[in-house]
Amino acid sequence: MPFSSLGFSPYLFPLLERALDQAGYAAPTPIQERAIPAILRGQDLLARARTGSGKTAAFALPLLQRFALASSAPPRRVRSLVLVPTRELAAQVGDTFVQLGRHLSPPIKVAAVFGGVSINPQMIDLRWGADIVVATPGRLLDLVDNNALSLADVNTLVLDEADRLLDLGFEDELRRLLALLPPARQTLLFSATFPASIRALANDLLQEPERIDVQAESQPSPDIRQRALEVDPGQRTQLLRHLLLQEGWGRALVFVASRHAAEVVAAKLCKAGIQAEALHGDLSQGRRTRVLQEFKQEQVQVLVATDVASRGIDIMELPVVVNYDLPRSTTDYTHRIGRTGRAGQSGVAISFISAGTAAHFRLIEKRGRLRVPRERIAGFEPMEALAPNPADPAATGGIKGTRPSRKDKLRAAAALEKRDKD
Ligand code: AMP
Repeated sequence: MPFSSLGFSPYLFPLLERALDQAGYAAPTPIQERAIPAILRGQDLLARARTGSGKTAAFALPLLQRFALASSAPPRRVRSLVLVPTRELAAQVGDTFVQLGRHLSPPIKVAAVFGGVSINPQMIDLRWGADIVVATPGRLLDLVDNNALSLADVNTLVLDEADRLLDLGFEDELRRLLALLPPARQTLLFSATFPASIRALANDLLQEPERIDVQAESQPSPDIRQRALEVDPGQRTQLLRHLLLQEGWGRALVFVASRHAAEVVAAKLCKAGIQAEALHGDLSQGRRTRVLQEFKQEQVQVLVATDVASRGIDIMELPVVVNYDLPRSTTDYTHRIGRTGRAGQSGVAISFISAGTAAHFRLIEKRGRLRVPRERIAGFEPMEALAPNPADPAATGGIKGTRPSRKDKLRAAAALEKRDKD
């Protein structure tokens, strides 16, 4: 189905189409196909959307059309509010609006506001109002408290990565902001997962929403090849270096468990002759933006990041994501590996596992209904014994523990008997 048949105004569509062509969007992604007509009709929306699915353009395009057809926002007023969990995502979603709306006239005013940078330029920017504000909740509240803007005219609210907004503890800010919005509005909620807290939020906020759950949204994209490499913790940096050379990856996004680890691993990689930088929440916003820019421009080969910093990073053609430290949850695993293989491109997601983390990885696999084959790389075989891999039919041991269950023992005995007979 082409973009032209999703219900856009025939008068405006050519202007959006030019921007779509320039962005290289030939056809809508499944979420865009389903969400755009519903949003244009004015319906509320509840969408399960993985990052990388094209969800940003799914809400950006209809909102751009709406504001191109309306008169612009009065001073200090906002028409549409997009709430996101992180600064990077705010900047990125703002950029998508600007990119897709670049040929509209008069221009659509988009403001991205987030913490970690001075509030004054943002206050000045909002003085003349904005059609669309993309914001992290904390900074938005600061701006409201400073009378820099009023939310009384918001007619569309988008909650992007709503599960993450709650995970990061923004619930109170969210409640305060919601109380400032007019009740008559269109609300669009996008979330990668639907825990009870999100279902409750959706019940509170949405009226007869269109529900979209594009198949396999909670599963990683099939274009991502997942690999689990068994290696001792002390060998990971050397193995990473080996893989970068061997596989010829121009760039890799490497995840670690803490800010400290990000610094340490980046320093170790630099020492091993690899252009690496750390990306984490302790860095100033200016530095984070600079590091990301250098990574995008391939001046930095390896970005060593924590989960929070990684949210919303969108780099086209990112060939590989490495879990140097394993993520805490299956949701984080899905988000991390979704940084590669975006928008139909293929990618590789590698997880380093050791004797100490093998059981945790099995739990991630179990909860995500995944099976990732275990591999060893010659010269980097672990010295410490790892529990057998349940993905391997010959392996024993259930998901929960390393000891074979009764069923496993019976199966093994039957296999032995069969082998003896053969
Ligand atoms: P998102 O899920 O919004 O973070 O988008 C993931 C990536 O897909 C971004 O880099 C977008 O630029 C890209 N993208 C979004 N829609 C399309 C499309 N229809 N065709 C090709 N790429 C797209």
